[in-house]
Amino acid sequence: MRINTVSVLQKFQIGKYCHCCGYKLSYYPYGESYDAPNYDICHYCGIEFGNHDMPLLEDLCEYRLDWIEKGAKPWKIHSSTNEFTQSTQLSLLPEELFDTGSKADVLNKLDIVLSNHNKYFKKIKIDFRLILAKAKFGKICHCCGNNLEYYPYGVEYDNPSNDFCYCCGIQYLNQNAFLEDVVKYRTRWIEDGARIIRPGLIKNINLEKQISSLPYIFFTYPDKPQILELLDKAIKGRNS
Ligand SMILES: [Zn+2]
Ligand SMILES: [Zn+2]
Repeated sequence: MRINTVSVLQKFQIGKYCHCCGYKLSYYPYGESYDAPNYDICHYCGIEFGNHDMPLLEDLCEYRLDWIEKGAKPWKIHSSTNEFTQSTQLSLLPEELFDTGSKADVLNKLDIVLSNHNKYFKKIKIDFRLILAKAKFGKICHCCGNNLEYYPYGVEYDNPSNDFCYCCGIQYLNQNAFLEDVVKYRTRWIEDGARIIRPGLIKNINLEKQISSLPYIFFTYPDKPQILELLDKAIKGRNS
C-alpha cells in the first residue's frame, strides 16, 4: 500500500519530534498543521524533512533503516547527544510511522547495533599502551598528534612520563591510558575550542594535519571524520 507521509503525520500529530528517529526537536518539522516541511535536518538521524521522508511513508522507512544499518550514529555531535538513547526515542513513535508490522523488527535491528556500540564503547576498556606499542607510535601525542621530544609512555610503552602535552594538555598517566578516556578527553578539548595549552612552546601548529595523521584505531566514537568536522567547527568558531 502506498501511504502518503503527510497523511500519517496529520493523523498522529506527534508534535516537535522527529518522525524518523523520535528525537526531540525545537520546532514542528512539518509546521503546526503538519503539511509544510521546513527542509530542516534532524540533528540526530540526519533526515531532511521534506526530502528523505517524502512523498511516501516507504521513503521515510527506507531512510530510517539505512541509518540504523549504518550504525545509527547521531548526525551532529554534541556531548548532550553522546549517549545512545535511540532505542527509547524510537519506541515512542507510533506503529503507523513504520512499514506495516515492522516496528518491532526495526527496534530489534537497532538493539543489535546499539549493543555492539556498547560492547565497544562502554564495556571493554582498551588499554591504549597496547595500541601504542603495536603501532610503534613513538614520540607523538596519541590524543592530538603533537610531536613530542620523548616517548609519552616510555620506549616500551609501559611507563608513563607523567608529562603533559603542550598542545592538547593531556597528561600521560596510567589512569589516562585507556582508549575511551583519551577519546573523551580529545572530544571535550575540541568541543571547548581546541585551544593550545602552551602556544609559546610549540612551533608550526597545524591541528588538522596532526589529527589527520592519527590512526583510525585511536578513535572510537566520535570517529575520525566526525572529530575532524568538530575541529573544523572549533577553528572557525575561534576565528569568528
Ligand atoms: Zn531524526
Ligand atoms: Zn596532545
